Amino acid sequence: MINVTKPNLPSFEEYAHYLKGIWERNWLTNNGPLVNELELKLKEYLGLNHLLYLNNGTIALQIALKAIGVTKGEVITTPFSYVATTSSIAWEGFTPVFADIDERTLNINPALIEQAITPNTVAILATHVYGNPCDVDAIEAIARKHNLKVIYDAAHCFGTQYKQQSIFAFGDISTTSFHATKLFHTIEGGAVFTQSPELLKTMSHMRNFGHNGPEAFEGVGINGKNSEFHAAMGLCNLAIVNDILKSREEASSLYDEALAGLRVQKPAITTNSKYNYAYYPIVFESEVALLKAVAALNGNYVYPRRYFYPSLNQLSYVHKQSTPVSENISKRVLCLPLYYHMSPEDIRMIARLLLRAQNN
Ligand SMILES: *Cc1c(COP(=O)(O)O)cnc(C)c1O
Repeated sequence: MINVTKPNLPSFEEYAHYLKGIWERNWLTNNGPLVNELELKLKEYLGLNHLLYLNNGTIALQIALKAIGVTKGEVITTPFSYVATTSSIAWEGFTPVFADIDERTLNINPALIEQAITPNTVAILATHVYGNPCDVDAIEAIARKHNLKVIYDAAHCFGTQYKQQSIFAFGDISTTSFHATKLFHTIEGGAVFTQSPELLKTMSHMRNFGHNGPEAFEGVGINGKNSEFHAAMGLCNLAIVNDILKSREEASSLYDEALAGLRVQKPAITTNSKYNYAYYPIVFESEVALLKAVAALNGNYVYPRRYFYPSLNQLSYVHKQSTPVSENISKRVLCLPLYYHMSPEDIRMIARLLLRAQNN
């Protein structure tokens, strides 16, 4: 059986080495030494001054939305993302307003962001889809002009760079996920990134119930902390993350070669960026062609994912809005299996099945 992803597990001995330390210290969670070490090493690896390690990527989005200092209004967002992008906006009491995507990059279309702005707009929440950077320059210009906050859902972006800088450095706040299905993972986990010392301080209080010392509180907070056990997994995986990135790039080139002749399109990678090969998405000519491909793969125990489907403007709890490009793409897009140490034979087999399904 081949699934769309396979989480990397370090050697048992390597993880056990960290467990031994946890047992010796008897310090399991609450900003422990391994959490601190992971935060330091992540900052070093990413070339960033600030980040807060959290318990998942959805809490990261919720803390980011809470930190911008307004409690209601419209947040302009993309309909082409994982459901957590939209559900976090609704969960925090904001109204999601969708701007359709660019059909080349599959990222939110900046021109349509500007059209969607009303006097009630408070922020833009955009996803760097599949790890491919949004048009951050255009989005920043729009945000400045209209005095809006920008949050990026960079859940797919570990290792992605734009203009030689980590993509996590962009926006007022960036968020990411370190869930087991992501390129770099800590089992469950996530982070927020900001260049602003004020936002950093606000979010660090929010992460820990609003605590400012043991007996004082600074605003409303939540439990966004992560544990020593999760940080230990992160430290193991961070040690090999360059290898993970390289292995995915090689697997993606092999797919490119092996899929020659398949009538599909791939999203265009944004110029001036270094892509992380987090996913291998292909867009079929029609939903019928996609369903035929999925059936052929499933018949051979290969399980790709319709990621992202459905388009998020069709969720039951959002106001009815039409985003034709996202609706159309989400019916035709499929993410093929891609993970660390995926075998070339498996990639060639998947390509053969897809080509055979097309030509049948
Ligand atoms: C995975 C993901 C999330 C949610 O992260 P969790 O760590 O699973 O909570 C949010 N947004 C996007 C785009 C994702 O892919």
